[in-house]
Amino acid sequence: MAKRTLKKRRQKPVTSPYCKPSTSRIHQQGLFASKRIPADTEIIPYVGEKVSKKEGDRRAIDLADAREGTGDASVYMFILDDNYDIDGNVPHNTARLINHSCDPNCEAQIIDDEIWIVALRDIAKGAELTFDYGFDLEHFEDHPCRCGSDLCVGYIVAREYWPDLEEKLAAKKSAQAAKKKKKKKTATRKKKQAAKKAKAPTAKKATKKSAKSRKKAASKPVRKKPAKKTKSPATKKAVKATKKAVKASKKKKKTPARSKTRPKANKKKARPKSKKRSR
Ligand SMILES: [Zn+2]
Repeated sequence: MAKRTLKKRRQKPVTSPYCKPSTSRIHQQGLFASKRIPADTEIIPYVGEKVSKKEGDRRAIDLADAREGTGDASVYMFILDDNYDIDGNVPHNTARLINHSCDPNCEAQIIDDEIWIVALRDIAKGAELTFDYGFDLEHFEDHPCRCGSDLCVGYIVAREYWPDLEEKLAAKKSAQAAKKKKKKKTATRKKKQAAKKAKAPTAKKATKKSAKSRKKAASKPVRKKPAKKTKSPATKKAVKATKKAVKASKKKKKTPARSKTRPKANKKKARPKSKKRSR
């Protein structure tokens, strides 16, 4: 077993003439176009360990648990077919560095039983490669998105869930606003009460104490409001844009694929494995 692991570690990282790793402004390391990449180019294979569905499920849950609360949103598990998943969490899988974007320029496709990162559009030299991680809404707050695109919805969530996300964010916002209002009222009342007490000279000591406890009470329930929330108003626009984009891409997909060096049997979109927990 130890030997096997050692062998795996020594495997050379997968390289591609189209891209190379570099520091990303989205998240840690990313992959960047080393030259102009025409649309539909198969850029780099997404390699890894072929595992059974059962093992794939187990690993996906483990990974999701391990990164819970860390903000880490790496995707490594892909559905290959009905029987197998690909665990891309191996050092030589260079494509695992690709970050998520709400407006991705690549997608993962299954081509002849391999997963490939394919260009969705022409990509300029130096641009960061991205794909949609396809996360569902569960624990979306654990995965803020920093893709920086105009369409960014603030969280790493698959496009199909954007309308639901918008609803959730709106509901949360109004709930938060209501709470804040209530708190403000309470605080004002307490302040008035304290001011009354302070006027009585004999209550000096007690006032001090109550002032202290007041401070504590006031500071405790203040919710830490994440800065990322500011992005939510853009969601509606983004969703509209997405629908357009999806329509456009659907249209685009109908056009026959250009002749390529690789045979194209069995081409379909590869889906990252959902990380649903059973509990
Ligand atoms: Zn984003």
